Amino acid sequence: MTHLFDPTTCELLKGVHSGAAPASLYINGRWEAAADGKTRTIVCPADGSVVGEVSEASEADTERAIAAARAAFDSGTWVAVPAQERGAILLRVAQIIRENKEIFARAESADTGKRLDESLADMDDIANAFDYFGTLAPHHAGRVVDPADSEVRSRIDAEPVGVCGLITPWNYPLLQVSWKVAPAIAAGNTFVLKQAELTPHTAMMLMNVFAQAGLPDGVANLITGAGAECGNPLSTHPDVDMVSFTGGLATGRIIAKNAADTIKRVALELGGKNPNVIFADADFEAAVDNALCAAFFHSGQVCSAGSRLIVEESIHDRFVEELVRRTSQIKIGGPRDARAETGPLISQDHRDKVAAYVDQAREQGAQILTGGRVPTEEDNKSGHATGETDLTRGMYYLPTVIDGCTRDMDCVHVEAFGPAVTVETFTSESEAIKIANDTEYGLAGAVWTSDIGRAERMARGLRHGTVWINDFHPYLPQAEWGGMKQSGNGRELGPTGLAEYQELKHVYTNLAPSVTGQFKG
Ligand code: NAD
Repeated sequence: MTHLFDPTTCELLKGVHSGAAPASLYINGRWEAAADGKTRTIVCPADGSVVGEVSEASEADTERAIAAARAAFDSGTWVAVPAQERGAILLRVAQIIRENKEIFARAESADTGKRLDESLADMDDIANAFDYFGTLAPHHAGRVVDPADSEVRSRIDAEPVGVCGLITPWNYPLLQVSWKVAPAIAAGNTFVLKQAELTPHTAMMLMNVFAQAGLPDGVANLITGAGAECGNPLSTHPDVDMVSFTGGLATGRIIAKNAADTIKRVALELGGKNPNVIFADADFEAAVDNALCAAFFHSGQVCSAGSRLIVEESIHDRFVEELVRRTSQIKIGGPRDARAETGPLISQDHRDKVAAYVDQAREQGAQILTGGRVPTEEDNKSGHATGETDLTRGMYYLPTVIDGCTRDMDCVHVEAFGPAVTVETFTSESEAIKIANDTEYGLAGAVWTSDIGRAERMARGLRHGTVWINDFHPYLPQAEWGGMKQSGNGRELGPTGLAEYQELKHVYTNLAPSVTGQFKG
């Protein structure tokens, strides 16, 4: 069987595998190996097969990349490129990604284990994000202010922030990257990107796409390697002006603390515990069906996963019965398995965390109605089997429904980031809002009802950055994405997603200078 993706022969990784050791650090337009020669093996979590070898950066490598980004910014040539030209580069990037969609999707699925169809859809979204910021770039260069004085001109210039440290997670590798690098380039910044250590290949391919699209050397720099070991300088180094981070709450806290010493601009996109509120008057079939997608799409490894079902008490039994019936039939498999509906978790460590989360729910008195364990040989013949994937070989975990949950249990507050959904009940609109907001997070939530007035009241009451009414999961490049409370303090996408990467400078011109008379001597 041919490999899903072979990094050593991939045209878009030209320059990475030409030497004895993999050279996956992209610094000042050149591929380099880690200075200490360290490497990491990337493994596909769907079946444990080796995808490839990459360099494992150290702090010293990151400092080299920061120096390259600093020099490219301080030279002034990139900053002087008109926004329209920067936008044109992004439009070319979008075009090249579309032309190479299949190979990008294969690389993404090899690293993450996700279904190829999902990766292909992700590539469309990624190209759309580059298109969006490419088009937006020349339209947000600043504004003219009315100074109420005809002898004065006053304007606001939107300038780049400078050198950006961009840190991204493994669940949507290239998508999360695109939401940062596209606006950073549109605004005229330079950057060092640290892609999640488990899923480096598509970010590496993107660097060669940038070169093809005409991005000058030194603007985009990439390091591959583990968290704090190579990531720390991105939030501590005085030559970094801004750090934008997407990942877990615990890491976000460290980054915000680190960045405080040099007063960096900080944008944090963190986790979520996202309520999915179902009223009795909702379209039953659609609500159940979307509850499955909300919870189990990409095996729940989605920051906005609808992992907390809040169901009106009068329909609880019927709703849960149907939810469990359909959950027990979800087909699980690897990227090549055409019958698979969801895939593996990213790693053994992550699967252990999900298992511990479910075990704790069980210990605290919640009822596990289906799933709640790692699949065994028996499951290869169960409702989850596709007949193509051996569920004992990859990092699979059975889709899990946890019922009988109450607000004092950890499972309704802790982000599972896996295929597990909790069920709570309510009897009034105000109680539904109270439960849905009873979380330190505030990323996203949904309400299902046929009463539009109620839907709007719920949308106003929910303290979450995105609210879906009778839907779950869609997002648009034109619409801001981000969290309230401890889900973060930044916004990606939309005009605000560009503004994050801009400094605003007030330029005040006096057309008729005169003596002030303030000091008489
Ligand atoms: P993580 O916090 O473990 O890692 C995220 C990134 O940070 C990785 O690249 C990691 O190597 C790096 N990192 C870790 N420690 C670091 C340090 N001290 N300095 C610099 N970099 C460091 O998160 P994860 O497990 O990769 O991702 C899952 C989390 O991401 C979930 O909580 C999920 O909800 C969240 N997420 C949020 C969004 C959003 O838009 N809000 C999107 C996707 C994922």
